[in-house]
Amino acid sequence: MQAATKDSQVAVVGAGIVGLCVAWELRKAGHQVRLIDPEAPGSQCSYGNAGAISTGSLAPLAMPGVLKNAAGMMLDPDSPLHVPAGYWLRAAPWLLRFVAAADPARVERIADALAALFEGAMENHRALAAEIGCPQRVVQTGQLHLYRDHGALAKDAGSWRLRRDRGVRAEVIDAAAIRTLEPAVSEAYQVGVFMPEQGAVTEPFRYATALADALRAAGVVFTRDRVLGIERDGNWRLRCAGGSHAATHVVIAAGAWSAPLLRPFGLRVPLESQRGYHLHVAQPGLSLSRPVVLADRKVFVAPMETGMRISGTVEFGGLAMPPTPRRAALLGEAAREGLPGLRLDPQPAHWMGHRPCLPDSLPVLGPVAGQPGLWCAFGHGHLGVTGSANTGKWIAGAVAGGIAPDRFAPYAPERFG
Ligand SMILES: Cc1cc2nc3c(=O)[nH]c(=O)nc-3n(C[C@H](O)[C@H](O)[C@H](O)COP(=O)(O)OP(=O)(O)OC[C@H]3O[C@@H](n4cnc5c(N)ncnc54)[C@H](O)[C@@H]3O)c2cc1C
Repeated sequence: MQAATKDSQVAVVGAGIVGLCVAWELRKAGHQVRLIDPEAPGSQCSYGNAGAISTGSLAPLAMPGVLKNAAGMMLDPDSPLHVPAGYWLRAAPWLLRFVAAADPARVERIADALAALFEGAMENHRALAAEIGCPQRVVQTGQLHLYRDHGALAKDAGSWRLRRDRGVRAEVIDAAAIRTLEPAVSEAYQVGVFMPEQGAVTEPFRYATALADALRAAGVVFTRDRVLGIERDGNWRLRCAGGSHAATHVVIAAGAWSAPLLRPFGLRVPLESQRGYHLHVAQPGLSLSRPVVLADRKVFVAPMETGMRISGTVEFGGLAMPPTPRRAALLGEAAREGLPGLRLDPQPAHWMGHRPCLPDSLPVLGPVAGQPGLWCAFGHGHLGVTGSANTGKWIAGAVAGGIAPDRFAPYAPERFG
């Protein structure tokens, strides 16, 4: 593969947190960088997420037994995981691959690949925040996962074992220790798992915006346009609604919208949106010192610069179906059970975002085989904030020829056949 020279022109498609981090590392390496996105930087999935830097989240979503555990949930519109009736046929091939990924040996390999991608991510986000002038925006507060009792914790034993086997610190604590860490948590939660190495971004959109501002100051060109096609004419040419742009390298970082851009190269990547929601409460009436996970409800409650963010749920339905505000309201109800003093504004702000998800819970990263200079950086699913800083380093390293292509084997776009 041909390595980029210092003055290579690199086009990054998509200015979410992943594209922004890729652009940052490419620019630091001395390349001319153009970021192309029809929307404002960080305004899509990277806008309203929970901001957690969860380097210890090494368990894929499809764990052994997933069929038994998830099938009932998918039919219930009020459960944390829902597939609307009209979307079953569309989702079926993806769901079959999802169930296949729960094979125990494969789960171990996926956990290894996630561990490799997240190694040092906390430190790298801290360094990035300092570089872009907002060191206060990345904090290592730890995260607290809450269970009602030991029986409930035992049901997740497999995923905790995967994490601990790979060196993640996860300390089981009792009810008194939970209340010492977080006095606002309900007595209904008797067992906790505290993960001291984890952290958070204190406001994801502000973090993305600071990164975009730093990129502009460093000379990166932002082009507000949609890439309609990526073609070869000696170099690469990006066909956009408003014109076309030449580049020696192209990085596809268009989140949940990335897959169609690869179809002309014979690749059908099974990328699906797992639509997630948040409720944002400006004046919650209580405080938390760290992100808290209500494990039974699959709800994440995170203190932010701008208030309390309650997020979670997985809804299938694709990119076009309108949001289902009821799913955001359900998050509020669940959070109030875990945090009885929580005051929900009469009309708390709610939001839906498209998590870009592959069935094996791994992103698509690295070169496209047979297409020198074409790179992928998308599909980070529930962990795109966490994985973004390292993705930037990996892609920039590979573009410069300093990272061997076999590093990307577990994440290859061709892995689905
Ligand atoms: C409710 C919720 C909570 C979450 N919580 C966390 C968390 O706590 N921690 C964590 O690590 N992750 C979390 N995530 C996941 C995380 O938000 C995503 O993985 C991440 O934002 C994906 O970033 P991205 O840059 O790949 O995609 P996006 O932010 O969606 O950016 C993709 C960009 O590509 C652009 N684009 C699309 N098509 C084109 C085109 N043809 N041409 C040009 N540009 C294009 C879009 O306009 C968009 O700006 C959460 C997600 C949700 C929904």
